[in-house]
Amino acid sequence: MIRYLPSTKKDVAANPKARCIRGVVFDMDGTLTTSMTEHLVMMRRVINVPDGMRTLEYVDTCLEGEEREEAHRRIIEIETDAMAHMELSPGLVELMEFLYDNDIRTAVITRNSRLAVDHLLNNVISKQPHKHKGLFKFDPILDRSFKPTKPSPDSLLHVSRVWGIPPEQLMMVGDHGDDLLCGVRAGSISALLRYPDNRVFESKAHVVVDRISELVEHLSNGFDVDMSITGDDDVGV
Ligand SMILES: [Mg+2]
Repeated sequence: MIRYLPSTKKDVAANPKARCIRGVVFDMDGTLTTSMTEHLVMMRRVINVPDGMRTLEYVDTCLEGEEREEAHRRIIEIETDAMAHMELSPGLVELMEFLYDNDIRTAVITRNSRLAVDHLLNNVISKQPHKHKGLFKFDPILDRSFKPTKPSPDSLLHVSRVWGIPPEQLMMVGDHGDDLLCGVRAGSISALLRYPDNRVFESKAHVVVDRISELVEHLSNGFDVDMSITGDDDVGV
């Protein structure tokens, strides 16, 4: 076990070299926003994604020509429907307040489209009360045009380079095994936002919470990390 120390401004000022989290990177669907499982399941069914394959991987490597274009159209259709139901994850504002107050940087890595990201920013976050809007300063925001996508660690390593913060001081938060694998493979801390249907991914999580605001407790008090977790094996799709 390795101990991560508190990430509050006061603690970091007192001990600038301490091992702690200095940046938090979020998955979007089901993490910043409420769960999208139903839509993702529908997407797999409509496109006939074989068991064990990832949706985008299947469409981009197994389909060609008109069939691939049609699959991309269906993905956009389902994502557009999901957007209409998009809401912020309960407790997110509380976490964003803590991160903002303690100068902890935030970014987003999503396999969703830029359209959905813009919807979150322009139609969901912008409708928050004025005092909360300023808390959301995600930068960078990487959508699925950044390749390779999760579970590859490339996107998270990119954020690490852009920020000049080493991967071990970053936390990758998500609701899917691919978010956690991306985090573990980059050498960062992986945090699972747990729902009844994603417990299967717990084995790849250094930190598990049932409400996103519970991360405030971890970041303000410090937490122990099991360094034996590896990103070698897959955890399913
Ligand atoms: Mg997700």
